[in-house]
Amino acid sequence: MKPSHFSRRHFLAGMPTLAFAANKSPLQARIAITLDLEMSRNFPRWEDTGWDYEKGNLNAETKRYAVEAASRVKERGGRVHCFVVGRALEQEDVQWLKDLHAQGHRIGNHTYDHVNVLARKPEDTQFRFLRSPWLVKGRNAEQVICENIQLCSEAMKTRLGFEPDGFRTPGGFRDGLVDREDIQAMLQKLGFRWVSSKYPRHLAGQPGKPASEAIFDSIVKAQSEAQPFKYSGGLVEIPMSPISDIGAFRAGRWPLDNFLQAIHRAVTWAIERGAVFDLLCHPSVMYPSDPDFRTIDLICDLVQQAGERARLVTLDELATEL
Ligand SMILES: [Zn+2]
Repeated sequence: MKPSHFSRRHFLAGMPTLAFAANKSPLQARIAITLDLEMSRNFPRWEDTGWDYEKGNLNAETKRYAVEAASRVKERGGRVHCFVVGRALEQEDVQWLKDLHAQGHRIGNHTYDHVNVLARKPEDTQFRFLRSPWLVKGRNAEQVICENIQLCSEAMKTRLGFEPDGFRTPGGFRDGLVDREDIQAMLQKLGFRWVSSKYPRHLAGQPGKPASEAIFDSIVKAQSEAQPFKYSGGLVEIPMSPISDIGAFRAGRWPLDNFLQAIHRAVTWAIERGAVFDLLCHPSVMYPSDPDFRTIDLICDLVQQAGERARLVTLDELATEL
C-alpha cells in the first residue's frame, strides 16, 4: 500500500488500519436514500389519524414529493429505493410508479396494509383489521402476515408488471428480526434475499424540545448498530439509519434544522469510516416538514463533496456485498 492512499483525514477519523490492509484502498462509504410510500398519521396535520385505516391512499402531494425527490437524486447520479404498501396499487393512476421504475429507481414490498410482522394476534397486525375483523377471520397472525406480504407482491406484478425489489418491515425493530427466525424463514420462502427491518435504539428526548448535544451524540453512536449484516439463516439485513423523519418530526416534533443537523452528522460519520448510511423517510411526512427537499439535497451534497470516498447506492446493491 502506498502512503498516498492513507489520507490524513481518514487517519484522524480513526479508520481501522485493517480495512486498508484487507482492501488495499480506503473503504468507500455507501449512502442510500429510501422512501416509504404510505400515508402517515399526524401528517400533514397533527389531528390526521384516519390514515391508519388507509395507509395506501396516497395523496397527490405525497406522490409529487416522491417523484421530485427521486429526480433530484438521479440528477446526482444515484437512485432512490422505495417501499410501497400494496394498497396504493388500488389507486386509479399508478403510472408514476412505473415511471420511477423505468428510470432505474427501485421499488420494494412494504406489505399490502402496513402490517406489523412481529404481531402474535391477527387483530394486532393492523388498525384496519381491528375495525374490520371479518377481513382476517379464521386466520392466525402468521397467515395474515404471510398473505399480506404476498398480496403486495401480487399487486405489484399485476398492476406494475414487475416484482418487488426487497422487503421493508412496517415499523423498525431495535434488534431487527434476530429473535424471529420464523419471520426470517417466511421472507426467504416468499423469495426475498434481504430485508430492511432494524432501526437501532437511540436517545429521543422530549417532544417539542430542540435536540440536545446528547441526542445528536446518541444518534451518531447508533450508526455502528445500523450496518448491514447476515442472519444465521442467510437472510441479509440492511438496517435503517437513525434518525428517521418519523423520529424527528412525529416523536420529537423537531424543527427541520435539527433533523438536518442530525443527518449531516450521521452521514459524515459514515463517510469518514467508509460505512453505510440508509436514510428512512416518508414523502407523506417530508412534504409538510421539508417542502424544499433540503434533506435530500444535503445528503447528495455530502456524497458529492466526498468524491471517491462515497457513493449513492440502492439497498439491493448493498445486499449483494454480503
Ligand atoms: Zn411504513
